[in-house]
Amino acid sequence: MPTRVPFLDLTAVTEAVRAQVEARWSEVLRSAAFIGGAAVEAFERELAAYCGTAEAVGMANGTDALHLTLRALDIGPGDTVVVPANTFVATVEAIVLAGAAPRFADVDPETLLLTPETVAAAVLPSTKAVIAVHLYGQMPDMVALSACADALGLLLVEDAAQAQGATYAGRRAGAYAVAGCFSFYPGKNLGAFGDAGAVVTSDPRLAATLRSMRDHGRALGTHYEHVVLGTNSRLDALQAVVLRAKLAHLDEWNASRVGLMAQYRDRLDPGRARLVADQPGGQGVHHLAVARVADRERVRSELDARGIGTGVHYPVPCHVMPPYRDYADGPLPAAEQAATEVLSLPMYPHLEPAALLRVVAAVNEVAGRLPR
Ligand SMILES: *Cc1c(COP(=O)(O)O)cnc(C)c1O
Repeated sequence: MPTRVPFLDLTAVTEAVRAQVEARWSEVLRSAAFIGGAAVEAFERELAAYCGTAEAVGMANGTDALHLTLRALDIGPGDTVVVPANTFVATVEAIVLAGAAPRFADVDPETLLLTPETVAAAVLPSTKAVIAVHLYGQMPDMVALSACADALGLLLVEDAAQAQGATYAGRRAGAYAVAGCFSFYPGKNLGAFGDAGAVVTSDPRLAATLRSMRDHGRALGTHYEHVVLGTNSRLDALQAVVLRAKLAHLDEWNASRVGLMAQYRDRLDPGRARLVADQPGGQGVHHLAVARVADRERVRSELDARGIGTGVHYPVPCHVMPPYRDYADGPLPAAEQAATEVLSLPMYPHLEPAALLRVVAAVNEVAGRLPR
């Protein structure tokens, strides 16, 4: 029996940074500067430089990055925020945690990304912002979405949790909108050894508000002056060490994902397993390799029986989930259809070419035997 091809294997990316992380963790243990400090500040500088923004603000996770960004932009009760229905639940959660209400938008049926048309269809007079989600690692048409947001008087925020390093029209994910929100959950393209997140922005006032909010609303540089409603969402030094080490490899690891995705595109039979379309004008970083199949649960279990791990991102669109369904006001056909068909195939930088060929052969065979 050949070994299993897991859906995700982080062993190789962990080993690539182990020596550096262990050495720098040992310095952190000696310094006892566990929260904030030199490692966090260095990571913030390096992330901002990488994204091409003036600032980066480390956070405890991606959900807080989104939630605090909305609050720092003064979005709250009485306001609505447009969000695609087919995203990870955290995007929607952040809107509700900020006290605002989501306006669920549909997406392009092939790229599964927001378009100016789907945004316009969801906007109300109460709408203050739109969150563009870079689903599966690729950015929507940000030129068109920026123009659309400007025309409608909306703030544009990026949920770039799945897209560290992606570009659109030459600009990096996070650098298009007023703010770009990242998660560094371990499985993301840039992943910590625990929870972490960040916001990148070129607006110094927004950055200052976020720095205060993540630290109990402290006036910057003070200890006992709490001037805004904050929370605890600080990035810790141990995670910043990991993120600095991994950021140095990100382009190389993303390039590997791009190569693997090209193999999937060349070899999968599109009549049986049709990959989510590339958005023209951008370069995605393929956080996930998502194909669409009929009878997904059967395909999944037959692939599992052949030793191939898969995932589903996501089986339930947010507008039908119990905490959020009262905000929905109509069907969203493209998002609902995608939820029944999407199947995430193995994708990680060190996926062996031979293992990818086994995945392709199994998918073509299993999906080919099922009625379409
Ligand atoms: C992972 C993810 C988040 C949330 O990040 P956490 O760090 O888990 O809080 C938000 N949005 C999207 C699209 C994600 O994939």
